[in-house]
Amino acid sequence: EVFVRGLKDLIRTIPDYPKPGIMFRDVTTLLGDAKGLKTAVAAMAEPFEGERVDAVAGIEARGFILGGAIADRLGCGFIPIRKKGKLPWKTIGQEYTLEYGVDVIEIHEDALAPGQRVLIVDDLIATGGTADAAVKLLRRSKGEIVGATFIIDLPELGGLELVKSHGIPCHALVAFD
Ligand code: 5GP
Repeated sequence: EVFVRGLKDLIRTIPDYPKPGIMFRDVTTLLGDAKGLKTAVAAMAEPFEGERVDAVAGIEARGFILGGAIADRLGCGFIPIRKKGKLPWKTIGQEYTLEYGVDVIEIHEDALAPGQRVLIVDDLIATGGTADAAVKLLRRSKGEIVGATFIIDLPELGGLELVKSHGIPCHALVAFD
């Protein structure tokens, strides 16, 4: 078990960002702390260290920072999952619903070889809409999902349970009400 006590104190909370009533959990303060970053990366990777992982799929944008470091730690490659229109080659897209409207995430159509084992990485899971779309996208890419790992879970929104309900092992380091 990696030591995660103290990590929560490195996360800054910004009330009413980006909209009134939202408590935004800002991980830039954690990422900027040498020990905080090292601890978070180690603890996010730890549940998957004994397994075969062929690639980490990081979700734009904070999932790139954590995902790159976790991929290096696990000795595997990194695949970006990006917002629509950002990837330069041919893509596969997946729509998901937001509070108001829809959004699309994309992956390169040749990012994965069939049967490759992929770990999903993001900074935070809330409703699970984004992670759930990532699961669909990776499965459509013929990937096998090893698990999903986050710094922060907001348990009241049920996202971690949603992703777990697809049979995917999920881990988060800290929870906020
Ligand atoms: P979900 O799709 O689970 O509702 O929202 C999760 C996505 O939105 C993640 O990609 C995450 O980075 C972003 N997100 C939503 N709320 C927050 C927040 O309070 N702090 C941070 N850092 N990211 C958030």
